[in-house]
Amino acid sequence: MTIEPSERVDRVGPSGIRRFFELAEEVDDLISLGVGEPDFSAPWTARQAAIDSLERGKTSYTANRGKRELRAAIAADLARYDLTYDPDDEIVVTTGVSEALDLAHRALVDPGDTVAVVDPSYVSYVANATFVGADVLRVPTRDDEFVLTRSSLEAAGAADADVLLMGYPNNPTGATMTRDQLEPVAAFAREHDLTVFSDEIYAELTYGHDHVSIAALPGMRERTIVLNGFSKAFAMTGLRLGYAVGPPAAIDAMNRIHQYTMLSAPTTAQYAAIEALDSCADAVTEMRDQYDRRRRVVLSRFDEMNIDCFRSSGAFYAFPESPWDDCEAFAEALIEAEQVAMVPGTAFGPGGTDNLRVSYATDMESLREALDRVERFVEAFPTE
Ligand code: PLP
Repeated sequence: MTIEPSERVDRVGPSGIRRFFELAEEVDDLISLGVGEPDFSAPWTARQAAIDSLERGKTSYTANRGKRELRAAIAADLARYDLTYDPDDEIVVTTGVSEALDLAHRALVDPGDTVAVVDPSYVSYVANATFVGADVLRVPTRDDEFVLTRSSLEAAGAADADVLLMGYPNNPTGATMTRDQLEPVAAFAREHDLTVFSDEIYAELTYGHDHVSIAALPGMRERTIVLNGFSKAFAMTGLRLGYAVGPPAAIDAMNRIHQYTMLSAPTTAQYAAIEALDSCADAVTEMRDQYDRRRRVVLSRFDEMNIDCFRSSGAFYAFPESPWDDCEAFAEALIEAEQVAMVPGTAFGPGGTDNLRVSYATDMESLREALDRVERFVEAFPTE
C-alpha cells in the first residue's frame, strides 16, 4: 500500500524557492542572493534573555495565547503604528508569522470562500488559501509599481472576494504602500465587506519613511488581522516567533485552533522576544541602516548594468527585470556560470514572471562580488 497525500496537499506544488535552493546547494563558491532571511544574528541581549530563561529552568508551556508580559510588550510596541490592541483578548503569540497565517486561514476562511491575493507575493499566501479549500483570486500589481490599487482590485473581481491577503512591505518586490495608497484599498475593503489579512512582517524595514498599517485607517480595525513577528526585524528566524492581532472574536477563533494544534509558541523564544522589544531598538536601527546601504548599492549597480530595477523601499529585496525573457533559465545559467543565486520571479506568481528576486540580506563584500559576477555574466550573455 502507498499512503497518498490528501487532495489539499496535491493541489499545491512544491515551493519554487525550495527547488532553486536545492539546485544552488550543489554549487561550490556560491554567493546566494536568494535567501529571505537576515544575515545577522539576533541581538545579543535577546539571545542572553533566552539563555537566562533556560538557566532558570523555564522550559514549560506558556499560556496558549503567549506570555502575558510578551503580549503587553507587543501591544505597547504596536502603538508606533497607531495600533491599539488589548493584550488579553486581541493578541495571540504564534510559532512565526507562518503559524499566524495558517491560523487566520483555518479559523476565518471557509471552503469555497474567495481569497484575493496580491500578486506577486510571498509563496505561502496562495498555499495557505488553497490548503483550506478557498478559491484564490490573484490581484495583479505589476502595472502599478507593485502596489494595490482600487482599479486593479475592481478589474480582478475582488469585490466578490471574502478576504484580501496583502503583504507590505512586500516580499518579493520590496514595494511599500503609503497612507495615500492604502486609503482607496481600505475604502474598497469597507465597501465590499472584505476581511483583510495584512502580513506586516517587514514593517520595521522601510527606508526613508515609516510603515503604515492598513488596520490603522478609519473603519479597518474591526475587519483586519495584522500579522507580524520577530524573524526579520530582530533576525530571529530560527526562534520561530510571531503574532496576530485583531478583533477579539477572530483572535479567539484563531486561538481555538492554536490551543489544540500548537498549545503555545516556543517558550525560550518568548523570553528572547520580550527582551528584544524592551532593549533592542538600537540593534534594529543598525541592521536597517546596513540594509539601506546595501539597497542603494544594488539599485545603482543595476542602473549601471542598464537593468531595469524596481525602486524598492522596504524589506531586503530588490526586484530587477530579468535580462533574459525566461527568468528561470537566466537564474539557472547564472548559478552555473558565475555561482550567484537569485530566485526567479515565477516563484511568486504570474506577476513576477519577468523579474528576479535579489535578497540583499548578505554582507556588503559578498554583495559587491556577486554584482560584479552578474555584470560579467550579463555582458557575456546579454540574451539567452
Ligand atoms: N511572511 C513573509 C512575507 C515572509 O517573507 C516570511 C518569511 O520569509 C514569512 C511571512 C514567514 O515568517 P516567520 O519566520 O515569522 O514564520
